[in-house]
Amino acid sequence: YSPATGEEIGELAETSLSETGFIYERSNTAFKTWSQLAVSERLVYFKRLRHLMAEKMDEIAEIISKDTGKVKTEAIVADIMPTLDGIIHIEKHAVKSLARKKAATPLLLIGKKSYIEYMPRGVVLIISPWNYPLQLAMVPILSAAAAGNTVIAKPSEITPMVGKCMEQLFIEAGFPEDVIQFAHGGKEVGAALVEHNPDYIFFTGSVRTGKIIGEAVAKKLIPCTLELGGKDPMIVFKDANLERAVNGALWGAFTNSGQVCMSVERLYVERPIYDQFLVLLKEKARELRQGAAPSDDVGSMTFPAQVGIVASHIKDAVQNGAVLETGTDPDEWKTGRTLFLPPAILSNVNHSMAIMKEETFGPVLPIMPFDDEEEAIALANDSKYGLNASVWTQDDVKANRVAGRLVTGAVVINDVLVSVANHSLPFGGAKQSGIGRYHGENSMRMFCHEKAIVKDSGMRKTEIQWYPYHGKY
Ligand code: NAD
Repeated sequence: YSPATGEEIGELAETSLSETGFIYERSNTAFKTWSQLAVSERLVYFKRLRHLMAEKMDEIAEIISKDTGKVKTEAIVADIMPTLDGIIHIEKHAVKSLARKKAATPLLLIGKKSYIEYMPRGVVLIISPWNYPLQLAMVPILSAAAAGNTVIAKPSEITPMVGKCMEQLFIEAGFPEDVIQFAHGGKEVGAALVEHNPDYIFFTGSVRTGKIIGEAVAKKLIPCTLELGGKDPMIVFKDANLERAVNGALWGAFTNSGQVCMSVERLYVERPIYDQFLVLLKEKARELRQGAAPSDDVGSMTFPAQVGIVASHIKDAVQNGAVLETGTDPDEWKTGRTLFLPPAILSNVNHSMAIMKEETFGPVLPIMPFDDEEEAIALANDSKYGLNASVWTQDDVKANRVAGRLVTGAVVINDVLVSVANHSLPFGGAKQSGIGRYHGENSMRMFCHEKAIVKDSGMRKTEIQWYPYHGKY
């Protein structure tokens, strides 16, 4: 794997800051017609896009792999397929979800009818990250557009070829001009777009940037959704299916080289099985094949800056007494100048270490024993993050009890990460992992003003609560 060459990126010109104002003007103009189409008329373009993406799946997967360093299987299974599934979900549910909904009318309003209507907000700005560069841009873009909004998308500058590929897909699918526009570039372009007063902002990225955007929108009272980072715990009780839990931990920690917002970043194992678990975990970790070939399991990191963060977390942990059970000393990485980091397992860790507190976003799995259910819950909740978690046990009652007490946006029982793959479930974080939810019922309605309508037939002369009172009550 090598990042895109200068020549390749040369064709991918960045959007100039002065152009951002014109993008908004065009978006506002396009809104006037796009918002007036029936939902079913908008969905015609979605079907075309889905067919086009299915046809070009291989080509798109190559671009994602080239831009991110992830193996092709992961590009298809974890980025393209969820996007297609997201489009299918929208095609299936948009008409009903966005239709006028009848509401109950109380006795006080007798003779009237009540409804809820979903009105598009206007111009939606969608800012997305590099780790799943397709689905994390496409799903919110399409949810907002299905609801009748026009969209300005600002994909990550770290994966510019995927950004251009998405723009091209919308053109080829024949979407009307300016309904979905792309602005390419880094944080300066993103910040300039925020300054232009979009009607809604949907942001996916780091807590650091989330706070900057949160501050900017608070000043202008622009509504927004923030989908941010995580430090997800996995809790394995002694009655869990041991081999399944080991396999799940490896995949949950190392898929996409750990660059997943819901990666397993903290592994807690009940003490009676801890030693056995660690032996098996190390054995299986060593069997993983690393490289860029389709037969490989673990790909590379996407860009060098992230390697520095991973190295600093491992070094800090080892200096404070952690044991590197698999993987290599970060000092050895520099000599090879490689983005392929060997999956690392760290034992003897504690919650004072950065590796248990901060998002690492790399192929590192710190493991820690616990003594009972209370301690496991306390450890899992001892984090500023709260995106996802997993609980592993054969005891259904215990699984539900523990899941109910974890302060996270989702919990997966006897599996990892997969809650995000179900578009019928809400997705989002607790604590600093974010504000708001998408997917599920909310995915299109979030991009709408929910409008209350009360209708009277207008036939009666007056109402009981109108003047004159004449001491009625
Ligand atoms: P990032 O915050 O650095 O960048 C995300 C996007 O914001 C990029 O497009 C970037 O150009 C833009 N940006 C940066 N500064 C900006 C500013 N001041 N104003 C406007 N836009 C700005 O995040 P990243 O490194 O691309 O992504 C990794 C992070 O995203 C991790 O923390 C990960 O956990 C998180 N993430 C969260 C989810 C989720 O759904 N919760 C999904 C994937 C990734």
